[in-house]
Amino acid sequence: MLWPLPKLEPSRPLKRIALLTSGGDAPGMNAAVRAIVRTALERNIEVFGVQKGYSGLVHGKFEPMDRSSVANILHRGGTILKTDRCDEFRQLEVRARVAETLRARGIDALAVIGGDGSLAGAHLLEQETGLPVIGVPGTIDNDVYGTEDTIGFDTAVNTALEAIDRIRDTATSHERVFLVEVMGRSAGFIAAAVGIAGGAEVVLVPDSAVELADICHTLRESERRGKFSSLIVVAEGDDPNRTPRLAAALGDLGFQARAAILGHIQRGGTPSGHDRVLASVLGASAVDHLLAGYSDIMLGVRAGEIVRVPLADIRRKKAMSNDYIRLAQTLAT
Ligand code: ADP
Repeated sequence: MLWPLPKLEPSRPLKRIALLTSGGDAPGMNAAVRAIVRTALERNIEVFGVQKGYSGLVHGKFEPMDRSSVANILHRGGTILKTDRCDEFRQLEVRARVAETLRARGIDALAVIGGDGSLAGAHLLEQETGLPVIGVPGTIDNDVYGTEDTIGFDTAVNTALEAIDRIRDTATSHERVFLVEVMGRSAGFIAAAVGIAGGAEVVLVPDSAVELADICHTLRESERRGKFSSLIVVAEGDDPNRTPRLAAALGDLGFQARAAILGHIQRGGTPSGHDRVLASVLGASAVDHLLAGYSDIMLGVRAGEIVRVPLADIRRKKAMSNDYIRLAQTLAT
């Protein structure tokens, strides 16, 4: 997908901006960093790269970046700026001090690449101190309100699928049921996408109240139609023992069930072309939105367009349709 860049007119002077990546790392964050740095330099704005998310802001760890600081990073997973979780930044006094430090260094605005937690922090900083902020959604979980897509989601889905395709081979050879747990925190977007694309008979998302009896029914139905291996995709959710427990329960009912937890292999790796384009477009547009006078917004994508999402809404829950789960099941059984 190539999203058209909104045409914007500069309306405020910007001399220096700071840029950070925060929360869980996601493949494609580097493409967003590169886009922000190079677009800003092109517009004669200096850029300071903050190390390790909000920790770097709190401890004054930021350095000027030039075009070569972001050379050769498009294809690298993770984030060259490093990321961190920073509890201190949750305190009002700390955020006030951060804004003072930034202003003392002549920094006029802050760009934040991260998930909904990081963006909620940026919103508070803006509201309390008036420092202009702009957000870019970077998380593999795709659980950010107001945007259909986040940087890293596509890559994570593809990485999980690679593993699932291999597991499927083993499942078929041994006529087994495999439960594969994927990431996604309390959202089920990765599980739904992977379930559809990987041909899973059952997709379990954190909110779904699927009973063991329903799962057995689906598996037996699938057997009756001649399939002797099945795949169940489970979203990690908040219960770390959900997948092994379910495998044990299916074992007790006579299924040869095995659990595979994909874990952190889904986070890293070379970003997909899709994620690199999304990150480049949103990153470049973030700079132009700041120049045009926008603040306290995140850029996202909806229906083929770049959209502005007020950061005030960022904590709203992004709903996931049950249709995806039904679709996976219909197509697989
Ligand atoms: P993500 O951005 O991936 O959702 P987290 O929720 O862990 O990840 O948030 C990352 C960081 O953002 C936190 O460690 C903290 O520094 C900051 N943050 C999160 N929520 C808030 C909040 N309500 N107020 C201030 N800062 C926050």
